[in-house]
Amino acid sequence: MNQRVGKVFLVGSGPGAPDLITVRGMRALQSADVVVYDRLAPPELLDEAPTHALRFYVGKAPGRHSCSQEEINALLIEQARLERTVVRLKGGDPFVFGRGGEEMLALAAAGIPFEVVPGVTSAIAAPAAAAIPVTHREMAPAFAVVTGHEAAEKCRGLVDWSAYARVPTLVVLMGVRNSAKIAGCLMAAGRSPNEPVAIVANATLPDQRVVFATLGTLADAIAANAIHPPATIVIGEVVALGSQVQALALASMAEAIARAS
Ligand code: SAH
Repeated sequence: MNQRVGKVFLVGSGPGAPDLITVRGMRALQSADVVVYDRLAPPELLDEAPTHALRFYVGKAPGRHSCSQEEINALLIEQARLERTVVRLKGGDPFVFGRGGEEMLALAAAGIPFEVVPGVTSAIAAPAAAAIPVTHREMAPAFAVVTGHEAAEKCRGLVDWSAYARVPTLVVLMGVRNSAKIAGCLMAAGRSPNEPVAIVANATLPDQRVVFATLGTLADAIAANAIHPPATIVIGEVVALGSQVQALALASMAEAIARAS
């Protein structure tokens, strides 16, 4: 009966910069026979897998069939049953809006050994890349991470925005498209339109962009700056620290230029 099977590593690749994967994640990748990856996994990391490793792209691409979750689960199970070491590489952390939970359950149900390798989530790394600490002793004793994907219809759907309106630092992932709706729900629940907001796009990548705005101007700022996903929205007093740091950096740069001329 003792059927031999491989093992599946559910690995978080980090927020974007390829060197933000963990050492453990990198080791798993370097031992992989199979890598199953999607859109947000840094492409450079695929080169870390051995040359013999099979690489399966299962993300979305414009105008192409994208794999269903069932197909991805089946692929992981099938490859592990071929006694292969499988790395399922996911952007950020595998358990933060990454469907890692679903994949883990499918593996457990199929009796496939697995290991979860956590990753640096963009929910914390994107604010950090804009010099925004998600907590701060004086102004933010808590933060919450929420999906903006569910905001299209109502303020009290799967996400009850009136509850999140009271969280000191609110980090919204997948919120670019629904930003007007999200800001509207938060303001309807009493959050000030003057609350500082940052939008961090392509965090930790060479084309990172940070836009500072307020809750009242969030959607306009996204449109005016042509911000596209992936982007993380940070709402709360801590955002002002990021804009302070940016202003100080600009001031010292201006000073250095003035001194040199
Ligand atoms: N598991 C991932 C999140 C997947 S949901 C994690 O832990 O980071 C995808 C969302 O993450 C995007 O819509 C965006 O809001 C955010 N995101 C991912 N990569 C990002 C990046 N480089 N910069 C800013 N936001 C990012």
